[in-house]
Amino acid sequence: MDRIYSRDMTTTSGGNVSVRDENDDIWITPARVDKGSLSRSDIVLRRPDGTFEGNHPPSSELPFHLRIYEARPDVRAVIHAHPGALVSFSICSRVPDTRLIPEIRNLCGDVAFAPYALPGSEQLGKNIGLELARDGKPSCVVLENHGVVVCGGDLNAAFQRFETLEFAAEILLAARRLGDVRYLDGGEIDLSRRAAERVLPERAQTPPTSLGKEARRQVCEFARRAYAHRLATSTAGSLSARIEGDSFVITPRRLDRLGLEPENLVIVKEGRCCAGQEPSRAATLHRTIYQKHPEINAIVNALPIHATAFSVTDTPLDTRTIPESYLFLKDVRTIPFEKIYADEEAVAAAVGPAYPVTLLQNNGALIAGRTMLDAFDRLEVLEATAAAILRCSVLGPIHPMSDEGIRELNAAFPSV
Ligand SMILES: [Zn+2]
Repeated sequence: MDRIYSRDMTTTSGGNVSVRDENDDIWITPARVDKGSLSRSDIVLRRPDGTFEGNHPPSSELPFHLRIYEARPDVRAVIHAHPGALVSFSICSRVPDTRLIPEIRNLCGDVAFAPYALPGSEQLGKNIGLELARDGKPSCVVLENHGVVVCGGDLNAAFQRFETLEFAAEILLAARRLGDVRYLDGGEIDLSRRAAERVLPERAQTPPTSLGKEARRQVCEFARRAYAHRLATSTAGSLSARIEGDSFVITPRRLDRLGLEPENLVIVKEGRCCAGQEPSRAATLHRTIYQKHPEINAIVNALPIHATAFSVTDTPLDTRTIPESYLFLKDVRTIPFEKIYADEEAVAAAVGPAYPVTLLQNNGALIAGRTMLDAFDRLEVLEATAAAILRCSVLGPIHPMSDEGIRELNAAFPSV
């Protein structure tokens, strides 16, 4: 709850969280306690016999939490909140289509919609329970004129899904301002799933070198920073830094970026990693890029909301907005979806010092830098540029910098 509140995905009065433990006891957030200052002792226990233990009454939405656990024996955690972008869908009686980005689709699946009923009522519980019990067993339900309910096999899974769904809703709201949204078809989702199943061959464990340790520390720091600045979700996005030659450090697959530690990072050496380690699925692409471009030493795959919105529409991202944007981003091109998985050589050929920033269709942004700081800097400029373009649409058409202005800029700052 603290994490949901600190990431502005609930107000202090809205939202509730519960978990069901192995004894079928349900632990739920209390009613009317400031969400910004909850502690362990505020959580209320509800036993299977209907008795309670705790310092407060349970959340007034306990009835629908109970209904969900009854309808879905596989569910062990439920999150309910009123995050801004999903509330926008809720008040228009719409649900976000998650066939937007492969990770979003895989985590959130199809989103259900439950008709309005009075908060706290048995009827609201019935409406939600009915939706969650349907074929395909959805895990996310938008509540009409209310908010969202997301569940999972544990609280981490539910949180990742909840956070990712709100991210998807934000990307969609931004993308719809640009034009028609391109959704993934079944074949494309399969293609990305097969690619995600690839595992790297094993290598023998070697003692850590000082260069390796430093690369781990840097990648860890910037992965946490990308999450803190909402340039990626808790598990999506991958960052890597070259150690030397054909070895680099990359973020692990599906591990929460909030508590990431340098030792969680994976070293990929000559295309191999140690047994039991799971590097981000972009590891083979990053290796191909490092092999092709000796001057590139850091790579970031990220899903910043506004730049990602461009990646799901056909609207080009014109970077001739302000000198900083053009200098750091150059001309931004989009790589077609099927190439990302089927032709890593072509993706590697499309990036490089002349094209440090590329959009991957329905997959966010790919940024290459001389150093980790260089790549991260470009990522921040990319998101700020995309956000400015989206925001100014109410003011009128953009007045891009002139060709002469761009020539002059390139001549004055050749090394950026
Ligand atoms: Zn509510």
